[in-house]
Formats: sequence, structure tokens, C-alpha cells
Amino acid sequence: MDLTTLAVTRLKGVGSKQAEKLARLQIKTVQDVLFHLPLRYQDRTREIPIADLAVGLEAVFSGVVLDVEVLFHRRRSMLCTIGDDTGEIRLRFFHFNNQQRDKLQKGVRISCFGEIRRGRQSLEVVHPEYQVVGAGGSAITAQTLTPIYPVTEGLHQLAMRKITDQAISHLDTAIVAELLPAPSGEITLKEALHTVHRPSPSVNAEALVQGQHPAVQRLALEELVAHRLSVQRVREKARLQRAPCIQMPSELCARLIDSLPFSLTGAQARVIDEIAIDLQTPEPMLRLIQGDVGSGKTMVAAAAAAMAVGAGYQVAIMAPTEILAEQHLASFTQCFEPLGLKIGWLKGKLGARQKRDAIESIAMGQTDIAVGTHALFQRDVEFARLGLTIVDEQHRFGVHQRLSLREKGIENGQVPHQLTMTATPIPRTLAMTAYADLDCSVIDELPPGRQEIKTVAVPNSRRSEVIERVAVAIKEGRQVYWVCTLIEESEVLQARAAEDAVAELAGHMPDVAIAMVHGRMSSVEKEHTMLEFKENRVQLLVATTVIEVGVDVPNASLIIIENTERLGLSQLHQLRGRVGRGSVSSSCVLVYESGLSQRARQRIGIMRETNDGFAIAEKDLELRGAGELLGTRQTGVMQFRIADLMRDKHLLDQAKQLSEQVLPAHVPALVERWMGDEAPEYGNV
Ligand code: ADP
Ligand code: MG
Repeated sequence: MDLTTLAVTRLKGVGSKQAEKLARLQIKTVQDVLFHLPLRYQDRTREIPIADLAVGLEAVFSGVVLDVEVLFHRRRSMLCTIGDDTGEIRLRFFHFNNQQRDKLQKGVRISCFGEIRRGRQSLEVVHPEYQVVGAGGSAITAQTLTPIYPVTEGLHQLAMRKITDQAISHLDTAIVAELLPAPSGEITLKEALHTVHRPSPSVNAEALVQGQHPAVQRLALEELVAHRLSVQRVREKARLQRAPCIQMPSELCARLIDSLPFSLTGAQARVIDEIAIDLQTPEPMLRLIQGDVGSGKTMVAAAAAAMAVGAGYQVAIMAPTEILAEQHLASFTQCFEPLGLKIGWLKGKLGARQKRDAIESIAMGQTDIAVGTHALFQRDVEFARLGLTIVDEQHRFGVHQRLSLREKGIENGQVPHQLTMTATPIPRTLAMTAYADLDCSVIDELPPGRQEIKTVAVPNSRRSEVIERVAVAIKEGRQVYWVCTLIEESEVLQARAAEDAVAELAGHMPDVAIAMVHGRMSSVEKEHTMLEFKENRVQLLVATTVIEVGVDVPNASLIIIENTERLGLSQLHQLRGRVGRGSVSSSCVLVYESGLSQRARQRIGIMRETNDGFAIAEKDLELRGAGELLGTRQTGVMQFRIADLMRDKHLLDQAKQLSEQVLPAHVPALVERWMGDEAPEYGNV
């Protein structure tokens, strides 16, 4: 049996509905299931005495029900106190029915699993999993560590475990081809997959979670090889293509720069020169600009656009969200309308007629610069003579999406040049792998006169002072971000944490307009809320870490980040960059739970010391060398499934060597296995 092609619907319990949900996770075949790896593990293999339960721990514990009460505060909730020989803990339920309430009688013994949180009076667990056990019964424990998979709305962990159970049992009889040359010694692909999905209790769980276990390393290595091969192919094919040669010096670009109310920073001028050199040559430019938030990337993009338009070509600018696209529209209109250029606007919500007009104007070549979201990709948008595409916040788009924008412009065998921009700096050594298909430019200088963001760290025990500070800032006319963080796999729990924070803050500030963005909202809802915040109709925005990168709200001058200890440096820096965009001085308050690990303390120290994104990225690399659960998925740098460039930097050389030795016949299968739909099609890149 070939698992590469065996459809998921061949697994028990996977009907068309389930298959649809799996497809959202890029899972179509049984092989895809096997390469859909856990984010982390829960240790349900042993019971923890109640006295040993600590905040943040996810644990199995058991006890006898001592008290049950239903409260009617802001929200109806049920509070159940249980105890064992060592202590007591409270279970809190916001959603419960009568049957559940009746079952939890005093004296009943239950086994629970959940994350321990600090409650108002004592430790508590919100919505634990629980089961009534007989009088003398013991806690319910598991045989192996419990994997937690990335899931999607309507697909639960339990269902995911049943699906992976079946896929794993296929591993015994079917073939999952070894595609790396001379499988690197100790561990086979099959063993690695077994271990990662169902680690036996003897496996060092810590090493697995931290990604240092040989099984994880084996998979990470393979993924790095696949990634390398894939981007190499992209690069090679791109080299064979031709792009328009744009004459320099560009008169329009000079006029643009003259018209600015400020002079360019040295870094901006240097990067603009690098772009000019690329654009003159017939080889398509594939360049990435890395620059910290506020470093002035938009100006550099505008200069590049001026060069292309000045030479008679059109330019397409694509942003991942409507708000970001709208910001670009505003900047480009401001720069270019005085110079007589026509800017077009393509967005999802345009009326039929406006849309037709916009598309026609682009097709006729009347629009010089088209700004938009994914709508730009749509088949029915054709450019008359596209010479340059600019992609902002490129990490939000896959390699494939970036490429498809380039394909738009293919005409007479010519492809447009491409400029991409990111505000997520990564150290040079890693950029070579992460962006192997791109040339990199770095804007490592901020425009003069920027206000530093003042960063302080405050323990959660002083939460009321933090809330007071928020209230004061809002009274002074400022706007505030409040970021809630929870362990990442459950958008449901994250949303609940945000709801709780909103309820708490509303209780202290009844007159303030508070809104919320979280991952369970549709992108339309999220954008709507962000817009309300941008337009100052909302003063306090409570958000989970989904909060938009790059959205400019100059009046927001205070950001509170909860559970700071759970976030990596790069992510903290990104979040902090939401403020400090106006002329008023801004602050960032890092709220942490007491009992910080040494590493968490170091991270907070660095955040307080510096605002420099590159310095922070370097530190991140250093600190994370020893590995910690700060998934790459959160940093937004590069969407690897299992490899973590920072953690696995020692594998990069080996991956390079191996990639040169992979049999050419194995390359497509290897790339497909790891990159799935992201894989560039080999035929027509
Ligand atoms: P980002 O790199 O985050 O996209 P932007 O391009 O949005 O940054 O620039 C941030 C702000 O700095 C904008 O208001 C822009 O007009 C301004 N700016 C850009 N370059 C300079 C400069 N050389 N001197 C002064 N202000 C600048
Ligand atoms: Mg920007």
C-alpha cells in the first residue's frame, strides 16, 4: 500500500465532512497525517498530588468533591471544590448543564485533567476534563505521552488522535519511503514518526518537546533538506527567466525623493541603490527587504515603484490584509498623485462596477500602481505591462503565493521583478536558509527622532496597578492594546481568555469602548474591529497574539502583554512594535507570573534593554540555542512544520550536504512530502 496516495477518507471515521476539515490543515493523504506532527505533549502518565499543583502546569489529579456552588456574577458559573489528602483546588465551569451539576455531588470522587491557573482565592482549573471514578478508584492516567496536534475549528484533539492512531498502524505494513541518502545512521524515518506521535513513557519528554530528541532531529533534518531543494529549484528556474531591463538613473525616482519632507536614511539610500542595480539587469529581481517596524520600508518600495513606472511599466503591491493594503494605498497616493501617477485599488469588497472599472484600467495600462490584497491574484486581473511586484509582510504568504503573483506578469517570456518586505528580522546566518530563494537587503537604521518605547516588567500580583495605568492612559486620550496569551493550539481557550480579560477590564472601566480580536473571528470581523480601533472609536483593544503585524495606530501608546514568560523574544518585539508609531512617548508593560525561569528572566531583561529588532533576533538565537518551547509557528519567520531554524541551526550544514546527494528521482517526492501545496509546481515556475 502506498501511503503517499492513500486518501484520508480511507481511514475509519473520516467522511467527507471530516476530510474537508483535514484539508484545511493541508492533510489529504495518510502520508500527510503522518507528517502532521504534534505541537507539544501532555503528560497524563502520572497523577500529581493536589498540593504539588502549580500555576501553568497541565496535570492529572483526583479528589473528592467537597463543595459545589453556582454563582451568578457577571456570568453564571459553577464552582466545585475538590480535595485529596494533601490539599484542595477549585474547578470552574462557565458552560454546564443540570446533569453535570447533579453528578458532582459532595463526596463523589473524580479524576481530572487541566491547566492550573491562579484563581481569585486559590488555584483553579477552568473547564477541566473530568470523570467520576468509583469510591476507591484512582486517577485515570495514560500509557504514552499525549500528543497535542494543530487542529482547526470543529476538529477535536480526540478525533485527531483517532486518525493518527490509524495512520500509525499503517506504518507497520505499508511503505513510507526513505528519501534521504543513507538514512543518517541511528534512527529510521519510521521509528522517528512512531516516537513523535506516540512517545512511550521511557522517552525523554523534555527532549521531545524541546526538539532535541533524535527522532525530532531526524525529521527536522529531512524537512530542511526538502526546503532547500525546493527553494533551489525556484531560484534556478527564475535565473533562466527574463525580466524587463529598467534604465537608470530614474528621473521619476529622483523627483519622488526630492518631494519628500525628509531625507532618506543611509540605510534606505543603500537599499534603493541595491534595487536599482537589480532592476537594470535582465535577470528577474527576487529581493527581500528586512527592516524593523518603522524603519521606512514603504519609502524604499515607493522608490522601486517609481523606477519601474518611470520606465513605462506597471507595479502591483500586495498586502496580506485589507487594512495593510489600505495603509499602502494612502502612502502611495500621497507620494505619487502629486507626480501625476494613477493609483488603482483592488480589494475584496469592491462593488461589481468599481471592480470592473479597476480591472479594466489595469488591463488598459492606465493604472500605474495597483494596490490590493489577494484580489490581485484573481484570474480576471490582467496587467498590460507589469514590471514589478511588491509583497509586504512576505512571511504571511507562502512561496507559492508569491510566485503566482510573478506569473501574472509573464508576457513575451518576461516576468516582473519582485520585491518583498518583512518586519521580522532574522539573523543573517539563518536568512541564508529561510530565504535561500531571495537576495536580502537590510534596513538597519531608524529615521532620526524616533521615540524609544519604554518597557517595564510587572508581576501579575500587581495587576490592579497595571489596570489603573491603562485607565489613566485612556483618560489622557490615548489608546491601549491588551494582549492575552495562552498555549497556542486551542483557539477556543484563547478566545475565552480574551473574553475573560474584556469582562475584567470592563468591570474597572465601564465607560471605555473595549473591543476584542481573536483567532476564532472571521477575517472580516477582525478587520472591522481593527479599523474601529484605528479610527479611535475603540480605545482599548483586547487581542490574542493574532493581532495584525504592521497596522499603524499612532495614537496607541501603551501595550500590555500578559503571560510574557510564554512568549519568545521575537514575538514580544513584534507585539511591542504595535506602539511607538506616533510622536508621543510609548510604553510596553510585560506582565508575568511569579516564579520565572532563568531564561524567561533573561528575555525580559533584553526586552527592557533594547528596542533594536536585529539585536533582539541575535539574542533570540543565542538563548534559544538550548531550546525551549517557543514554536516557530509563533515567530512568523518561516513556516516549517517541525524544523526550527534557531533551534536546528547546527543541522544546516548537514542539510546542505544531504541536499546535494539526494537522488534526482527522489526530489519531487521529498518536496511534496514536506511542503505539500506550498511546493512550487515543477513544470511552470
Ligand atoms: P515600516 O518599515 O514599518 O513599513 P514605514 O515605511 O511605514 O515603516 O515608515 C514609518 C514612518 O516613517 C512613516 O510615517 C514614514 O513616512 C516615515 N519615514 C520613512 N522614512 C523616513 C526618513 N528617512 N526620515 C523620516 N521619516 C521617515
Ligand atoms: Mg510597513
